Amino acid sequence: MPGYLGDKSKMIVHHLAVMKNECNIFDVKIKDRFYFVPDMLEQAKKEGFSPCKYCDD
Ligand SMILES: [Zn+2]
Repeated sequence: MPGYLGDKSKMIVHHLAVMKNECNIFDVKIKDRFYFVPDMLEQAKKEGFSPCKYCDD
């Protein structure tokens, strides 16, 4: 299971281990879902994603 999920429509990255209902990740369309290699927040930031304000630890 991936640790991080990017939402390309909003350019936000969620930390799945601490996700909240407010993240609404099930509303993220399949085509907008983006995973990171390596699966790390630093990689997400490098690719232009901002941490989600709900599940950013
Ligand atoms: Zn989130």
